[in-house]
Amino acid sequence: MIHWRSMPHPSPVVCLLAPATRLSRHFTVADLMHSDTAVREHIDNRPGIHLQQNLHRLASGLDTIIELLGYPLEISSAYRCAQLNARVGGVPDSQHTRGEAADFTCPNFGSAIEVSLALARSSLAFDQCILEFGRWVHVSFTEQPRRTTLTIRSAAEGYLAGIHGNEGLPFA
Ligand SMILES: [Zn+2]
Repeated sequence: MIHWRSMPHPSPVVCLLAPATRLSRHFTVADLMHSDTAVREHIDNRPGIHLQQNLHRLASGLDTIIELLGYPLEISSAYRCAQLNARVGGVPDSQHTRGEAADFTCPNFGSAIEVSLALARSSLAFDQCILEFGRWVHVSFTEQPRRTTLTIRSAAEGYLAGIHGNEGLPFA
């Protein structure tokens, strides 16, 4: 019989969401934690359980985008742990680190510009929709969505209000 005092000191409690956890009709935790960079560099990008509500809100929002566009989304990066976020050059307080944002394309629907315009013209309750470098869309869903639309074409130019094409400007 082992006296309780001789039991090993408990290790720190790790409360991570299981990748198989379903968040919405179309998305599991695995879908929203996947990152090619994380896989390649062996970064453990599993989100903490405290982010489940944000991830559920994001996944449900992405479901509404699938409904709007009528095609599946290709998500390049949604949740990012601090290590992954730093590695890909995200701002420290990025909505990605809170499980509120996803970068995606929808090639069957159209270009990133066409997808951004469809979101802007919809009544979807997104927080931010940002057309990034003409190549993908950053979308976030928060408790109090602002429905802000922005475009970033180059770091030098910075963020522009609204969705803009690339006329006369090189891709960054
Ligand atoms: Zn993003």
